[in-house]
Amino acid sequence: MKIGCFSAVGYDGYAVDVECDIRRGLPAFSIVGLPGSAVQESRQRVTSAICASGLRMPSDRVLINLSPGNLPKDGSAFDLAIAAAVLQESGQLHFPDAPEDFGLFIGELGLDGRIRATDTDLAALLSPDARNYRFIFVSSDLAASVMGLPVEDLPIVFCACLTDLIKQDLSIVSACRSGGTPASGDDVAADFGDAPGWNLPIDFPPSIMRALTISAAGMHNILFYGPPGSGKTTAVRALEYLVPRETGEVRLQQLRIHGRAVRAFAGAQPLAAEVRSFREPHHGSSAEGILGGGRALRPGELALAHGGVLVLDEAPEFNRNVLQSLREPMEQAQIRLVRAEAATAYPCRTIFAMTMNLCPCGNRGRSDAICMCSDTEIRRYWSRLGGALYDRIEIKVFSGTAPGASGNGSPDLRDLRQRIARARRRQRRRYAGCAWNYNAYASQDVLAGMVGTEGRTSRLLREYADSGLLSLRQLTQVRRLALTIADLEDVGQPAGQAPSAEALEEARLLVRPELYAEYL
Ligand SMILES: [Zn+2]
Repeated sequence: MKIGCFSAVGYDGYAVDVECDIRRGLPAFSIVGLPGSAVQESRQRVTSAICASGLRMPSDRVLINLSPGNLPKDGSAFDLAIAAAVLQESGQLHFPDAPEDFGLFIGELGLDGRIRATDTDLAALLSPDARNYRFIFVSSDLAASVMGLPVEDLPIVFCACLTDLIKQDLSIVSACRSGGTPASGDDVAADFGDAPGWNLPIDFPPSIMRALTISAAGMHNILFYGPPGSGKTTAVRALEYLVPRETGEVRLQQLRIHGRAVRAFAGAQPLAAEVRSFREPHHGSSAEGILGGGRALRPGELALAHGGVLVLDEAPEFNRNVLQSLREPMEQAQIRLVRAEAATAYPCRTIFAMTMNLCPCGNRGRSDAICMCSDTEIRRYWSRLGGALYDRIEIKVFSGTAPGASGNGSPDLRDLRQRIARARRRQRRRYAGCAWNYNAYASQDVLAGMVGTEGRTSRLLREYADSGLLSLRQLTQVRRLALTIADLEDVGQPAGQAPSAEALEEARLLVRPELYAEYL
């Protein structure tokens, strides 16, 4: 059997053939095919693991070739394939099938022969290349993580250690028996899974609650502005409890992204438990921390927030270059990472949730303090977000009063979640077959067909355009928000209905609120 491995490059990757040649001569163990330092070190791990497993490391000249030879390879996932190639070439490992069949081997070896999961595993299993192999050997640590993934038909063999590889009865391997299927039903429990209940003060003013609900339902970007202590941060954090868990294709993408970030799986802990798509980076975070990158093109907070929320608390305090770099991902829903010899693109459809004060000193808008900032300073503070970035925030909400302690008047979380989940299902149904799922990304064609089709609403849209207060982009945002507002309404139609004039008016005030409009 031919032996293969997988080299992950950011979100993507490619298949690698592993060849072994053993010749008589002075004992040596070398690897060619542009191995990085982690691959070079695998010689020591492989040698120790083979010896510790009671097998024989050939005392001759061993040469490993990783093909294609012109692409650099790094990471510890090559250990298992290299060990398998050595064992096969030295006659200690026999496979029952035709020699032209390919086996895929991915895993890191411990010195005792134990096989560990790596950050390459899921990228390999979920790539189309995985379908070309007769067998796929991975660490048994991964067994819990692939439950419910669409890999049921792959011939996966879970091995705990190198001796398992030798002892495997491959004649019985046909497909991985993975239990459980991804949740897909029309059930709120499925949408929110085991999401935690509130542990926030939740007596938000109704305007804030409403804005949060609309943002969560349609994946709309949101900005809270107001004096310090007015509950802006608490408000954006509430999104964690309102944004449903993703299922289907987006869930797979999340697992793949998080699989690249998690360096090692903690024992048999499934990866799903590690996926947390509500991300709140500190404003001192580096560009690489937020956008991703490095030698391995790892995902940053932005990609990790795919299908969830990226919180930028005190947004103007973030590095200006980082803020400006968010513009393209916001528009294209993907973040491209490029280094000299590799490039990748992580999907990042996320809600950008930001907060900011009214002025640099923070006292503006407070009744108990005096703001001494000049008009120029205030304008400079607001412009730190940059027009291009600012233009892409659909919902702007003034936050003036602190949320009260949780009391009897609090909204029913279950009820809210139900409405949001229902609105999201409506959108998914409407956009089946499109590249996007939610209103925040709806194309002009869809908007033209759904919004402003009646006399009253089309008149209203024309008035907005004629008033000159809204830019073309903001007019599109009003249409998208109005669609979400309509989707939140409890109507019988499964695919939703055209937004009413009231929905348009509410959307307009979210896009361009009247309070502090001189800065917006
Ligand atoms: Zn001030």
